[in-house]
Amino acid sequence: NGARQPPRDAKTTPSPPPPNSAKKSHDDPALLKVRQALPVWPFRSEIVAAVRGHAVTVIVGETGSGKTTQIPQFLLGAGIKTVAVTQPRRISAISLAQRVAQEMSTKLGDRVGYSVRFDDMTSPNTAIKFVTDGMLLRELLVDPLLGRYDAIVLDEAHERSVRTDVLLGMVKQILKQRTDLKVIVMSATLEAGLFTNFFQGAGLLHIPGRLHEIRVFHTLAPHTDYVDASLRTIYDIHHHQPPGDILAFYNGQEDIEAAAALLNEHSDALPNLVVAPLYANLPMQHQRAVFDPVPAGHRKVVLATNIAETSVTITGVRYVIDHGLAKIKYFQPKVGLESLVVAPISQSSAMQRAGRAGREAPGCVYRLYQEADFLGLVSNTPAEIARANLATVVLQLKAAGVDDVLQFEFIERPAHEGLVAAHQQLVLLGALDRQTRALTTTGRDMARYPLDPTIARILVASEDVVSVDLLSLLALLSQETVFYTPTGDARDEALEKRRKFISSDGDLITWLNALRAYEEVQGDDKWSHEHYINMRNMRMVLNVRNQLREQVASQTTVSRRAAPVEQLLQCFLRGYFSSVAFLQPDGRYLTAAGRHAVYIHPSSVLFGKRVPVVAFVDLVGSESGRWFIRGVSRVDPAWVAGAAQAVVQEAKDEAAKVRKQKAREGVEGGASPAKRVKVE
Ligand code: ADP
Ligand code: MG
Repeated sequence: NGARQPPRDAKTTPSPPPPNSAKKSHDDPALLKVRQALPVWPFRSEIVAAVRGHAVTVIVGETGSGKTTQIPQFLLGAGIKTVAVTQPRRISAISLAQRVAQEMSTKLGDRVGYSVRFDDMTSPNTAIKFVTDGMLLRELLVDPLLGRYDAIVLDEAHERSVRTDVLLGMVKQILKQRTDLKVIVMSATLEAGLFTNFFQGAGLLHIPGRLHEIRVFHTLAPHTDYVDASLRTIYDIHHHQPPGDILAFYNGQEDIEAAAALLNEHSDALPNLVVAPLYANLPMQHQRAVFDPVPAGHRKVVLATNIAETSVTITGVRYVIDHGLAKIKYFQPKVGLESLVVAPISQSSAMQRAGRAGREAPGCVYRLYQEADFLGLVSNTPAEIARANLATVVLQLKAAGVDDVLQFEFIERPAHEGLVAAHQQLVLLGALDRQTRALTTTGRDMARYPLDPTIARILVASEDVVSVDLLSLLALLSQETVFYTPTGDARDEALEKRRKFISSDGDLITWLNALRAYEEVQGDDKWSHEHYINMRNMRMVLNVRNQLREQVASQTTVSRRAAPVEQLLQCFLRGYFSSVAFLQPDGRYLTAAGRHAVYIHPSSVLFGKRVPVVAFVDLVGSESGRWFIRGVSRVDPAWVAGAAQAVVQEAKDEAAKVRKQKAREGVEGGASPAKRVKVE
C-alpha cells in the first residue's frame, strides 16, 4: 500500500492538488503567506518528528502562535489520516473548523469539519475534525478505543477543564491498548511538567512566542462600577490612541449587553467604533462581527467574556481592558450545589489577557484595578476538577465502562469528598445503585442525554410523554434571563411591561409565559422591543429547545398539548428535589440540602413574597457573603416528598430487579467469568 503514502517532502513544500483526486484539498495561496508567518511554521518538521517518535507529545506555545490551526494540518502532511482536535467550547470548535477549512480550500464538513453537541458538520471524507471535549467523551461510549482516529489532539489543556482532565485519563488508558495512536497535548502556558509527569516518556516541544512589548496601566484609585470604568476607558482609547482594535473583558452576557447598549446609545460621541459582543452562547450569525476586519478608519471593540482569554483568537487587537474578574464555576460538596461566582482572576490569567494586546504589534493593557491588587492575586486558579460538580463526570465515566471511578487515573485527583458527593447525588437521582454503585438502567438512560444529570433525570422521568412545555422550561434553564433590564429611566417601564407575564408560581412559569407570548407573535421584533424581551436569549432558548426535542424524539414522543403548571413543576422537581428551600420566620430560607441560609434574589418575581416552600435553579454568591437563589418557583411541600419518594421507589425497584437477575444468573450460571472477577 506504499503507493498511497504522500511523498516524503509533502510536509515541507506545499504541494499542488493532485490532478485526479477530488478528495484532496489544497492550500489557499493567500492564507498560506499568513500561515507561514506564524511562530509554529518553522517548527513543522520538529513537530512531525516528535509525534512520530512518541506516543504522546506535549506542545507548549503562546496563544496565537498557530498551534490549533496548523498542527493538525502538519499531522496530515505526515501521513496521519484522521485527527480529532478537542476544544473546550463549541464556539471555538466551529470557528476553528471554518478557519482551517478555508486555509485548506475545502468546504466545511468535507476534509475539515466539526462535531459539537446537537450539530454535526462532518462527512466520511473528514480528516480534521474539531470536537468539543464533551463530544469526544460521548464518542468514547460507542468507540471505547477511539479506533476511528489515528491521532487525538487535546487542545487548551492548560485550561484544565473537567472534561479535558477526564479525556487525559481516558487517553492514557487507551494508550495501554493502542500502540498506533498518537496523542498531542497542547497548552498555552509554560507549565508542561504536569503533563509530562502524567505521560511518562512524552515528547516536549516549546514554540517560542513572538510577543511585542506591552505597556501595562493600572488604575490609581479603585472604582465602584467596572462596566462604567471600562466604557470610559474605551472612550479614552478611541479618542486618544492610534488605530488598533480593543478587547474588553466582562463578567457575563448581561454585562456585555449593558455595555453594548450604552456604547450604541452614545454612538454619536464614538464615531467609527464597531461594537462586537462575544460570549459562549452567542448565536452563529452574530459571531462574524468579532472576526471580520472593520473598514479602514474604523475601530472595533470586542466585548468578551473569559472565552477570549486563550481559546478564541481575535486579530487586530492592540488594546486590552482587563477588569480582573471572571465568572467561575464553584461547587461546594457540603451544600451539594454548583454555583457561578464572580471571582478575581489569577496573575497567570491577567498576563494571558495582557498578552492578547501584543500579538501583532506593541500594545497596551488597561487594568481596571490597582497594581497592589494585581500583586495580591493568586498565581494560578485551581483546576476546575477541584471545584466542579463531578456528577456528570462520574456518570460519563461509569457509562464509558470505568467501574471504579475512585481508582481512575486523574491527572489531578479531585477531592475525595467531591467524588463521594457525586456518587451520592447520582444515587439520589437513581442513576447508581445504592449498594453496588453500579450504573442502573435509569443511569444508562440518563447518560444517553449529553446533559446535566439533573436535566437528564427529568427527561428520563417523564419519558413516556414529554410535553413541549417541559422542553421549553428546560431550555429556559440554559439562559440567565429572557428579559432585558435597561438601566436608568427605562427600567421602570421595563418592569411594568414584564408584569403581564408574571406568575405567582414563580420565575420558571413567568419565563415560560414570556416565551409563549413571544412565540405567539412569532418573535416579532417590535413586540419584543416594546416588551423588553432579550431577543438573543429567546432565540437561544428556542434553539436549545429544538436540540432537546431532537434528543428526546429519538427516545420518546413529544406532545404538543399544553401542560398544567403543577405537572411542569413536579417534573422539574424530579431533578431538582434537593434544590428546595423553606421559609424561616426571619424571612430567610434554609436549603433542604445542607440547611444553608439563603435569600431570594431581587431579580426573582417571588422576591419579598414569603412563599413557604420554593425550588430554585441556581445559587449565586455576593460580595457581602450572602447567598442568593435564582430561578425560584413556588412548590407544594407534598410534591417535594413525592419527588424524593419516587426516586427512592425507583431505586428499590432497581435493586429488586438486580437481585432477581443475580438469582437467575446464579441458577443458570449465565454470568460471564470476567464479570464475576470484577465484582469480586
Ligand atoms: P493558537 O492555537 O496557538 O492559539 P491558532 O492556531 O488558534 O493559535 O491561531 C493562529 C492564527 O490563525 C491567529 O493568529 C489568526 O491569525 C488565525 N486565526 C485563527 N482563527 C481564526 C478565525 N476564526 N478567523 C480568522 N483568523 C483566525
Ligand atoms: Mg489554540
